[in-house]
Amino acid sequence: MQLDDKVVLVTGASAGIGRAIAARAGAAGARVLVHGRDEERTRLVAAEVDGFPLVADLSVGAERARLCDEALEQFGRVDVLVNNAGVGWAGPLTEMTVAQLRAVIEVDLLAALELTHELLPPMVNRGEGAICFVSSIAGRTGVAGEAVYSAAKAGVDMFAESLRAETAGTGVGVSVVVPGAVSTGFFETRGRPYTRSRPRPVPPEDVANAVLTTITRGRAEAWVPGWLRIAPAVRVLAPGAYRQLSTRFGEQVRVSPEPNHTSHEGAS
Ligand code: NAP
Repeated sequence: MQLDDKVVLVTGASAGIGRAIAARAGAAGARVLVHGRDEERTRLVAAEVDGFPLVADLSVGAERARLCDEALEQFGRVDVLVNNAGVGWAGPLTEMTVAQLRAVIEVDLLAALELTHELLPPMVNRGEGAICFVSSIAGRTGVAGEAVYSAAKAGVDMFAESLRAETAGTGVGVSVVVPGAVSTGFFETRGRPYTRSRPRPVPPEDVANAVLTTITRGRAEAWVPGWLRIAPAVRVLAPGAYRQLSTRFGEQVRVSPEPNHTSHEGAS
């Protein structure tokens, strides 16, 4: 699918990877709907890419519905949906509140599902369209300290895989882009900086290029960087060895007993 004159909605385009995707789509001749939560940043990026700002907090169901309505109102259609908006949360599950847990699921998983649910039918009716999901290596391998984020991204992956089969032959392409570490403000927002030496963070433009490639060439999946696909392959082929290695060399985040916790073991 060529993007010239197509209407492309990019969620989370007020910063990082989404901003780079919006710029690439604009350069390819698309009419870009730039979504963000922060109004000022969203307007700035929209001006940068000659696009149209749409502001909505994706952790709120009513705002997700309003975003779909406003996106469709702008040009009467959305040809391409890039589900990119996302938020992380770093630390052991036991230190996470239920509200924080729900916010990650709402933004990273539910918003992508609901936007797709609303915007896919007109694409199918027209016999043309594309939906791309920006997932994460965390959703393919699991990461200590990012259990909820990893679950959300794994959910996005399986949703996309199932939807790809459901949309076969309709003219609507479904793709997933799986980045490793990317140099954006993501780590600061999630509350823990990225300190590992490998994989070295890649620029957001690399992910944007992969997103555009999956859409324009009808590819199902892209990894950034490409060699990253080895990790989940090892996990499937040698799960015991993979778990030992990831416990030893992966993120050293562990849950610990609460200070006043009394074990029920041995209680009568
Ligand atoms: P980023 O620079 O922090 O940008 C996140 C974007 O998501 C921003 O536009 C932000 O909007 C938006 N967003 C966050 N919470 C939102 C909410 N409640 N409602 C609406 N919009 C919200 O992060 P990024 O690295 O570009 O992340 C983009 C995607 O890539 C995410 O899905 C992330 O999970 C994925 N990813 C990132 C990395 C990485 O290393 N950076 C690796 C793998 C996957 P505002 O700024 O306006 O609030």
